[in-house]
Amino acid sequence: MTVFDPEHALWNVRREFGEHGGVCPSISRSATFTVMDPATMPEIFQGLRGPDKGGCFLYSRHFNPTIHVLDRYLAAMEGTEAAVCTASGMSAISCALLQICRAGDHIVASNTIYGGTHALLRELLPEMGITTTFVETTDLSAFEAAITPATKVIYTETVGNPTLKVADIPALSKLARTYYLTLMVDNTFTPMLVSPAKLGADIVVHSLTKFINGAGDLIAGVICADKAFIHRLMDLHTGRVMLFGPTMDPRSAFDIIQRLPHLAIRMREHSHRAQAIAGRLEKMGAPVSYPGLPSHPQHNLLAAMLNPGFGFGGMLTIDCENQKTAEKLMALLQNQERFGLIAVSLGYYDTLMSCSGSSTSSEIPPEDQDKIGISPGLIRLAVGYTGNLEDRIVQMETAVKTVGLV
Ligand code: PLP
Repeated sequence: MTVFDPEHALWNVRREFGEHGGVCPSISRSATFTVMDPATMPEIFQGLRGPDKGGCFLYSRHFNPTIHVLDRYLAAMEGTEAAVCTASGMSAISCALLQICRAGDHIVASNTIYGGTHALLRELLPEMGITTTFVETTDLSAFEAAITPATKVIYTETVGNPTLKVADIPALSKLARTYYLTLMVDNTFTPMLVSPAKLGADIVVHSLTKFINGAGDLIAGVICADKAFIHRLMDLHTGRVMLFGPTMDPRSAFDIIQRLPHLAIRMREHSHRAQAIAGRLEKMGAPVSYPGLPSHPQHNLLAAMLNPGFGFGGMLTIDCENQKTAEKLMALLQNQERFGLIAVSLGYYDTLMSCSGSSTSSEIPPEDQDKIGISPGLIRLAVGYTGNLEDRIVQMETAVKTVGLV
């Protein structure tokens, strides 16, 4: 298999310069666009002209020049033919699923996924007649056993939120091919590190809110896939992105474009620091889980899927078993040690930490949380890169000792 380099792919794509030769692309904020010749407008509606056919724009819910630059860059980075940006990660996920599934259809999904996606699959989509069977992320035979004649999609996250269980994307892709299903992968935790489309995924989604934007100041998403699927999403009559209308703001697109150049550098540093902190915690005997540790059950699997040079990612967990200890540890880390911030989300420059069971995974019923390995005291840490690393390690050691975890 040829090695894919997302960093190279991203900067090999046609660069967009701004008006007057600006080194930054311009922000095109127009809701609507004028044409010189009235005959052009029906041609745009007929699909004869468009952003990639003569550089024609019509209306910003359809296509917008600034957002389209980000579409192109993210498609290049994920190694897909095309992409469409959306207003949030959730709108990317829901539009992509609803483009494929109709009433009566069925999804097989990994059981450790973001709580919002879990709620979409478990509670909202059944109201539309679309059902989901959740299976253990690491159990391929469970995925296969759950497939029925009504199944349309296999859904997983590359590295599951918050358990950090790793999905075997090449094997799931093989399964999807065998049963003529679509493999959809949420790659939010591992941009640059893993390229699911290159491992056989048909659709790759991201919450751009997280690592890709990296500044914690906007909500955004993207769907990366082949041209045919992106065209279906943008179809004037039945396109879910076109007609549900989760349109990204061009100012957000511009901000993300400006942060893409340092995504690779940031991902390397997130990984480097998470690896160092996790390694020290493990040495102390603390209940840490990190895919970069050889003790992680899917360490070798993730290593085999990784693009070289980006490490194992910025996410780790500490399992305090009970919520009280977890809250005590987070309070110490934030208010005494100044190690990081108690907040949901991830991919920020400061470390963010939250108790998943009572926050971003609270949509998953407690009995299911227990089954999939989310204890009430599981803290998810999205390791940032501010401050001196050795100081950060000492801060963590102090707090972990104070709460009696070691
Ligand atoms: N996917 C994952 C893995 C997430 O962690 C999140 C949010 O936390 C989402 C999707 C949803 O993204 P957004 O909040 O941008 O809608």
